[in-house]
Amino acid sequence: MPIESIPKFTPLAANLWDAIPGHGRKKLLNNVWCGQCAHSVPITNFTGAVKGGDLLLMGKCAVCHSDVARLVESN
Ligand SMILES: [Zn+2]
Repeated sequence: MPIESIPKFTPLAANLWDAIPGHGRKKLLNNVWCGQCAHSVPITNFTGAVKGGDLLLMGKCAVCHSDVARLVESN
């Protein structure tokens, strides 16, 4: 999945995402907790929004296609 193409990020979320180094983004996208799989999975078809000042990634588990989300805390 090309992580440089941002499908559905709000402008604010895109700003936060852009501030994360490429290797950091890749790590985040490949380590999202899935409650169904009960382990970390890659996230697919994700979108980005800002919640409480933090970046929230929402998408689907690459393994079982359940909804998963990952909050990326900003300092
Ligand atoms: Zn899963």
